[in-house]
Amino acid sequence: MQFGLTDEQRMMQDMAKDFAAKEILPTLKDDEANHRFRPELVKQMAELGFFGCALPEEYGGNGFGFLESVILAEQIAKVSGSWRLPFNMQNIGPAVTVNKFGTEEQKQRFIPDWVSADSFGYFAITEPNSGSDVASMRTTAIDRGNYWELSGQKMWISNAHVGDWGLVYAFTDRSQKYKGMSCFIVNLKETEGIVTAPIETKLGLHCAPTGEIAFDKAEIPKDAVLGEVGQGFQICMWQLNNTRISCSAGAIGIAGGAIDAAIDYANERTQFGKKIGAYQMIQAQIADMVAEHEAAQLLVYRAAWLKDQGLPNQHQTSMAKLFSSEAAVHAASATMKIFGSYGFSTEYPAERFLRDAQSLRVVEGTSNIQKTIIAGISLGDVVNR
Ligand SMILES: Cc1cc2nc3c(=O)[nH]c(=O)nc-3n(C[C@H](O)[C@H](O)[C@H](O)COP(=O)(O)OP(=O)(O)OC[C@H]3O[C@@H](n4cnc5c(N)ncnc54)[C@H](O)[C@@H]3O)c2cc1C
Repeated sequence: MQFGLTDEQRMMQDMAKDFAAKEILPTLKDDEANHRFRPELVKQMAELGFFGCALPEEYGGNGFGFLESVILAEQIAKVSGSWRLPFNMQNIGPAVTVNKFGTEEQKQRFIPDWVSADSFGYFAITEPNSGSDVASMRTTAIDRGNYWELSGQKMWISNAHVGDWGLVYAFTDRSQKYKGMSCFIVNLKETEGIVTAPIETKLGLHCAPTGEIAFDKAEIPKDAVLGEVGQGFQICMWQLNNTRISCSAGAIGIAGGAIDAAIDYANERTQFGKKIGAYQMIQAQIADMVAEHEAAQLLVYRAAWLKDQGLPNQHQTSMAKLFSSEAAVHAASATMKIFGSYGFSTEYPAERFLRDAQSLRVVEGTSNIQKTIIAGISLGDVVNR
């Protein structure tokens, strides 16, 4: 058993930390206040090779794996939960999925542009009336002979209104239930019959675009199908098991950022003639959050490592996702308490950590859904894949 990072992984960690400190932090307050997505920042991340992990070199990949993607994303999320999203949109979401299920032509055509951020990726599963129950989605693709006609609505889609190429899940044969779902590679900007709009009412992740997509008889080429017609549900579940690890990287990042802020504050703030960090009740809060954070980190790194070894990991990934996202909320909430009134101020980062962390126990399957997966595999009802 090996718990240490390699020199190369440490270098990547430092590079991401440095990038976040120099390129994200200086304008973060203003960017957050103005809900500003900075496309050029995604390009800079791409230039540093952030999006090549878990992808082969022939498609622009860098030969590193999920673990390295987690290490990079964690450092970015320590500073800003919003800026962890591009790892999912450019890399772990569409690119890794096309690498697994795509034809050679699809891999060559799409993956390099996601890795270089010449194309902004997205994946569209959720709908106004279909979230956890993916198979209840209403979006439909009808075979019109020369093309697929796509109609329906997607909701809460990261990158919806800035996205280029990405994955859309739709029913091609509803009578087959979940076996009648397919996955399509669709360009949101260049396809007639597609309208996107931002969701402006989000609680957090203000620099990460989230929006809706409406498909009104959009004509999609026949070769846009990823994998087989009818394989969409399987692809979707496989994809979510990967994007969950990216989400978990965001969770351990946010928790780490919150803990650093809490410790600095506990060492600075004086009340009753002593640093508040000298009081046992503050120490207990810090001890709890540090212990929970380190446990979360180990779960997340292990799940990523299992993926890199090609070993079954769904059980471990769901445990990592459940535990890390809940731990992030606990850490951010404890940090707010330690900051006292200043925790309630937008001048300090504590409230932002808490707002951003809340999203992580919802996305890529809620905490309840992770418990359902963990219990199903534990009880022997489902095989760990
Ligand atoms: C910031 C943000 C970004 C997102 N990005 C994307 C994206 O890029 N692409 C995309 O497709 N989606 C995205 N989503 C959507 C997200 O994945 C869904 O919101 C999530 O899957 C939950 O679906 P829902 O909100 O419809 O909740 P519902 O499924 O309606 O669940 C509501 C509540 O019921 C509980 N529940 C539901 N079913 C069960 C059950 N069987 N047992 C126990 N409890 C249950 C849930 O845990 C939850 O507490 C994003 C969401 C957010 C907030």
